[in-house]
Amino acid sequence: MSIELKRICVFCGANLGDDPEFAIIAGKLGRMIAEAGHEVVYGGGRVGLMGVLADAALEAGGRVAGFIPQALLDREVGHRGVTELIVTDSMHTRKAAMADRADGFVALPGGFGTLDEVMEILTWNQIGSISKPVAFLDAGGYFTNLFRFFDDAVVGGLIKAEHRSMAQHASTVDEAIAIATSPAPSSPSKWTDPTVR
Ligand code: AMP
Repeated sequence: MSIELKRICVFCGANLGDDPEFAIIAGKLGRMIAEAGHEVVYGGGRVGLMGVLADAALEAGGRVAGFIPQALLDREVGHRGVTELIVTDSMHTRKAAMADRADGFVALPGGFGTLDEVMEILTWNQIGSISKPVAFLDAGGYFTNLFRFFDDAVVGGLIKAEHRSMAQHASTVDEAIAIATSPAPSSPSKWTDPTVR
């Protein structure tokens, strides 16, 4: 039986962070995506958790597609050893190109960049412009407070429960890959009910 190749986009920090668990999980995710025969799509950096992820996937013989804006490449933070390095003219075109390429998404620990990227994917799912799964791989409990925030926003009436469920929690690398390679949970578009004001 042949497995279907999936393209899994991973958002993660351009720093390593203080908890050694972050890099361990980033490396394990890269290796296991490669070993499963899937492709890693990511931000094309060679530094931080991004570099760990890409190096682990390459070492395991996997395909890695990096999408990097020219400005970051000029600052020499791009990874020159990836299978395919796609240079874009801006952060915006980069994010759109990564979203097009990927079948599913995994967020690892990261900062503003990571949050920006994964929130944009959730937002595009929410308005129905894409329907692709999103896993938060909760290395070291990093996303506990973010999930609490999502729950509070549901209670506060600013995120619908059915949209909240698009942000899927993964405790293990296996779980994150399973989520990212499955169909997205079906959820109504934010704008389907014309009576909502
Ligand atoms: P942050 O989470 O703030 O560390 O930002 C990481 C995210 O922003 C990554 O997923 C990248 O897409 C982007 N990014 C930030 N810094 C870099 C870098 N040095 N090289 C490539 N991408 C970067």
